[in-house]
Amino acid sequence: INISNEHPKVIHTTCAYCGVGCGIKATVTDKELHLVDIEGRKDHPANLGRLCSKGSALGETVSLENRLLTPFIDEQRVGWDKALDEVANRLKATLDEYGPEAVALYGSGQLLTEDYYVANKLMKGFIGTGNMDTNSRLCMASTVAGQKRAFGSDTVPGSYEDLELADMVVLVGANTAWCHPVLFQRIRAAKEQRPEMKVVVIDPRVTDTCDIADLHLPLKSGTDTALFNKLFSYLQKHNKVDTAYVDQHTQGFEEALKAAEKVGDFSAVAELCGVEKTALKQFCQWFADTDKVVTAWSQGVNQSVAGTDKVNAIVNCHLITGRIGKPGTGPLSLTGQPNAMGGREVGGLANQLAAHMEFANAEDIDRVRRFWNAPNIARSPGKTAVDLFNAMDNGEIKFVWIMGTNPVVSMPDANTVISALKKCPTVVVSDCIEKTDTSEFAHIRLPAAGWSEKDGTVTNSERRISRQRALFDLSGESKPDWWIISRVAEKVGFGEAFDYQSSADIFREHAALSAFENNSQGRVRDFNIGAVASISDAEYEALEPFQWPLIKGHKAAQPHTRLFADGGYFTETGRATVVSTEFKVSYHQPNTDYPLLLNTGRVRDHWHTMTRTALSPRLSQHMDEPFVEVHPDDAEKYGLADQALCRLSTAFDSILIRVTVTPSVGKGNVFMPMHWTRQNSKTGHCGVLVKSAVDPWSKQPGCKHTPASIEAVSLQ
Ligand code: SF4
Repeated sequence: INISNEHPKVIHTTCAYCGVGCGIKATVTDKELHLVDIEGRKDHPANLGRLCSKGSALGETVSLENRLLTPFIDEQRVGWDKALDEVANRLKATLDEYGPEAVALYGSGQLLTEDYYVANKLMKGFIGTGNMDTNSRLCMASTVAGQKRAFGSDTVPGSYEDLELADMVVLVGANTAWCHPVLFQRIRAAKEQRPEMKVVVIDPRVTDTCDIADLHLPLKSGTDTALFNKLFSYLQKHNKVDTAYVDQHTQGFEEALKAAEKVGDFSAVAELCGVEKTALKQFCQWFADTDKVVTAWSQGVNQSVAGTDKVNAIVNCHLITGRIGKPGTGPLSLTGQPNAMGGREVGGLANQLAAHMEFANAEDIDRVRRFWNAPNIARSPGKTAVDLFNAMDNGEIKFVWIMGTNPVVSMPDANTVISALKKCPTVVVSDCIEKTDTSEFAHIRLPAAGWSEKDGTVTNSERRISRQRALFDLSGESKPDWWIISRVAEKVGFGEAFDYQSSADIFREHAALSAFENNSQGRVRDFNIGAVASISDAEYEALEPFQWPLIKGHKAAQPHTRLFADGGYFTETGRATVVSTEFKVSYHQPNTDYPLLLNTGRVRDHWHTMTRTALSPRLSQHMDEPFVEVHPDDAEKYGLADQALCRLSTAFDSILIRVTVTPSVGKGNVFMPMHWTRQNSKTGHCGVLVKSAVDPWSKQPGCKHTPASIEAVSLQ
C-alpha cells in the first residue's frame, strides 16, 4: 500500500469529505494505534498542498471509537458466513416471492468507485432491477439532468484551474468558503494576485464566501432561473451573443430566448428576485463585458424543485456567449461528496445504467448485458430516493440494503423514511459506524471498512480520478464494501461474475466497460477511461490522479482533452441544446400558518451526519449544537431572543432548537444546518421538517424551501 518513495510510511490518498477531492499525504506514525499525520499533497492538482479544517483533522477521526467491527443479526453478534448467508437467503426469498422490483439498494457518495460498480452490477445486471439509488440524488442529480439536457451527456466541462484563469467567477447557491474550502482558497489567492478579477456571489444568505465578493446578490430562494433568464435576454439585447458559436454549435436558441424574455424588465426581475435593480444590472453588465467567466454552483441550485431548470438557465448563458470549452470559462458544478462523480460514472443513480450508458437506449442495454454476461439485466430505470422510501412505506419494497449513509437523517420527510424502515421486512445496513440513526432499524448490520482502511478510486468535481489508499489494516472483522457485495452475490448464485479478488480487478473491468464498443453506430460517449483498462496491479497501485476522458493511447497522468473545445457535444446532432427555462413559481409559498421559509445547509467544520467529524473536539469547537438562524426583524416580530430556545415547525413536524439572531439570513427566511441527528442532538434534526417535493427532471428533493413557523418557548 505504500506509494511514496520518500519514506515507507508515507501514503498518498484522497480526502474523505467534499467533492474538491484534495490529495492527502498521510504519514502513519503508529499503525496499531491508528496515529497518522495529515498534510495536503503539493503535487495533487486539486489542492496543490492546501487542506481545509476538515481535511487537516482527518487524523483525529480514524480511531476505533464508534466503529462497527463485527456483523450482527437482530442485534446478535455473528460471524461473516452466517451474516452473508442471512443476507443472501433473505434476498433470494424476497426475489422468489415478490420479484426484483421488491428489492432496493441505497448507496452513498462515500462509497469508492469500485464499491459502487459492484453494487450497480449486482442490482441492475443480475438482480434485474433499477432500484439502486444513492444519497447523491440529494446532492447533484439536478446537475446530471441539466448537463444531459444541454450537452447530451453528464459532462462537467471545466477544471478547477479555470477558476484561477477566469476574470470573473460567479458562485451561485454555493457557500464555497465553508463547503468547498480549498476551491475558495484557490479563488481568493487568484483574486489577491489579480485584484481586477471579479467575484459575484448569488445566495440568499450572507455567507463567508461573500468576504471576497465584489458583488453579492441576495436573491430570494428559488428565483435563480428568473435571474439567469434576465441575464440571457440582456446578453441578446446588448449584442453579446456569440452568433457564430450559436449557429454552428447549438440548437434551441430562439425558443429559449422567447422563454427567457418572459421574465420581464429589470424592475420586475429585481422585485421577483428580491435584489437591488442596480446590483442586478451591474451583474449583467459585468457578465456581458467579461470574456473569461466561470459560473460555479452547488446545492443552492441543485436541491430545488426547479433545480434542473436552474442548471440549464446558467449553462444557457455560457453556451450563447461561447464561453465553454476554453481556458478560464465555463459552467462548473461543485459536487458535494467525495465520490458523487464516481457514482455517476458507474451508473449508481436509479435512472442510469452504467458507464454513462442509459436505459433509454436499447443498444446500451444490450451492450452492458453482453459485457456483464447478464441475461437478467434491468431494462428500465428504478425508483429514485424519495420514491424508493415512499414505495417501502407503501409495502412495495420488501428488502433494502443501505450502504454508508444515514437516510433517517439526511432524507427530506424523514418521518416517512423511519416509517418505511420499520415496515420493511429486511433492512440490511453496511457501515463503518457502530450505530447510526438508520442502523437502529436494521435487521442485519455488516461492518464495512472505514476511510482509512479502504482501497480504490474516487472522482472529484473536475472529473479527476484519484486513488484512495489504505493507511491501516482492516479493523476488527470489517471488510471492503466491494468484498461484502461480491460475497453476497456469489451466495445468491451469481458466482463467476463477482469473482473479484481486489479493487484493481474491479477498476480494470469498469475502465473496460467505459470503452466497450464505444464507437458503435458512430456514437461516442464522454466517459471513457478505456486506456487504463489493462493496467497491472502495480500500475493501479501507483496510479496518479488523472482526468477523463483520456486521450487514446495515453495512460494515467497524461494530459486530458479539454472537453467541448471543438464545439462538439454528445447530442444526436452534435450541438449543445440551449434549453427553454421559463421561470414559473413552482415552490410552496409561505402561508398564514407557515409564514417563513426554511433553508438548510452545511456548517464549516462538520460533515453530513457528523459520524466522523464529531470525533474531533477541534472541529466541534466551531459549532457545538444545532441552531436556527433568524433575521433580527423576525426575531423581534416573533419575540425570540438570541440563544433562547424556540419551536421551529413545518407542516411535517416541529422541533426545539436554539435561536441565533443574525442579519446573514434575509427577512422571512430561517436557516438550519443539516448535520445534527436524532442521536447526537437532544432537540431534533432538520430532515423531519423538510418537504419531500422533487424536481420533475432530476427527482432531486428541494431541501432549501420549506414553509415554516417559529415561536418562542419558555422553559419553566
Ligand atoms: Fe477535504 Fe474538501 Fe477540505 Fe479538500 S476542501 S480538504 S476535499 S473537505
